[in-house]
Amino acid sequence: MTVVTATGLGLVSLGGSAPADPTRRTPAELEALARDAASALEGRPAEEIARWATDTFGARFCVTSSMADAVVAHLFSRVTPGVDVVFLDTGLHFPETLKVRDTVARTMNVNVRSIRPQLTVGQQDGELGPRLFARNPDECCFLRKVEPLERALVDYDAWATGLRRDESPTRANTPVVTFDARKGKVKVNPIAAWRQADVDRYIARWNVPVNELFKKGYGSIGCWPCTSRTKAGEDPRAGRWAMFEKTECGLHV
Ligand code: SF4
Repeated sequence: MTVVTATGLGLVSLGGSAPADPTRRTPAELEALARDAASALEGRPAEEIARWATDTFGARFCVTSSMADAVVAHLFSRVTPGVDVVFLDTGLHFPETLKVRDTVARTMNVNVRSIRPQLTVGQQDGELGPRLFARNPDECCFLRKVEPLERALVDYDAWATGLRRDESPTRANTPVVTFDARKGKVKVNPIAAWRQADVDRYIARWNVPVNELFKKGYGSIGCWPCTSRTKAGEDPRAGRWAMFEKTECGLHV
């Protein structure tokens, strides 16, 4: 288990190194793979989808996790011990979220890679400013999430997420496997068809780490400036960017 952080422009390894695999596929090959897998794997168990992903992409595959919970990281740790888990450390996470990240690194057989933005919040002076999230959350998400993910994915042909169709109307058509044409990479969503009850069962069955904020009234967890509690019966993501007409950070467009 290794934690790798990114500071400034470069990655800093605290005991491991980024994967290297000379086997590269072209975007056209990746797109064809994703198209075939999307229909073949629809309706199949999450473990089977995860197995397909790691068998197909080997070292050029990673899991991404927001550390709201660690279900997908755990799922892949069972299927492929030592798999890379990428966490976007925006510098604006709740302490509870970082605690899940550290618990995952300590207790699961995975390789956690914490990727940071080019600038710390304190270094964002001039036009940006440390409170960019309050003025222009789209630009803030781009600098602190979208660009760091794209930088991290340079090492991979495919990545997995914990996206689920029941999370919000904007995610209702999430495929189990798709090709992200903008990134030129395959995106794997092994628990896309799960409902919240399936997630709860998996967490209980495997004693998976969960963010303590869920018990404090948060339905969905992102950075602290843009996340608020939700009321009973509300869309779980209603507390995200509640002061803006914004529902997604831009990672999944
Ligand atoms: Fe910035 Fe908020 Fe996006 Fe986090 S969620 S990157 S604080 S705008």
